[in-house]
Amino acid sequence: MSLEQHYTEILGQLGEDVTREGLLDTPKRAAKAMQYLCKGYQQTLEEVTNGALFSSDNSEMVLVKNIELYSLCEHHMLPFIGKAHVAYLPNGKVLGLSKVARIVDMYARRLQIQENLTREIADAIQQVTGASGVAVVIEAQHMCMMMRGVEKQNSSMVTSVMLGQFRENAATRSEFLGLVK
Ligand SMILES: [Zn+2]
Repeated sequence: MSLEQHYTEILGQLGEDVTREGLLDTPKRAAKAMQYLCKGYQQTLEEVTNGALFSSDNSEMVLVKNIELYSLCEHHMLPFIGKAHVAYLPNGKVLGLSKVARIVDMYARRLQIQENLTREIADAIQQVTGASGVAVVIEAQHMCMMMRGVEKQNSSMVTSVMLGQFRENAATRSEFLGLVK
């Protein structure tokens, strides 16, 4: 069965009349939308970074703040939406700026829990750049909490992963945390 056919089945199971006019193309659209939201499964780190790694003597912190993030939680397949802040300490190489956002996107466009997403982004930046430290903070609101369950509309979840110098050096870590406040 195709994804589209599954959506027709789901709509029926939910109590819908799948033949009514407004729903005629819904299974097709829903399938397309879900494939888009999960397109990270079709991407690899190599493809996404596409060799955009440049030699540099700079060893000062590179920080990309407020990267918009849209993902789906693996428990409910409902959106979680927020921002990611990504920093690294170059060790001879810097990554093209847009690539940091693309790495965030690739992992976000897979089913996730936020904790693992944070870790995956940090590990990927580390792997690609060979940085002496990587820091990732994600702040997000989860629809599975806001629209159902405890229905807490204003809560957001903050997760962080610190690698290398950001983990070992308190001054480096607090410089980062001060910059993303
Ligand atoms: Zn959830």
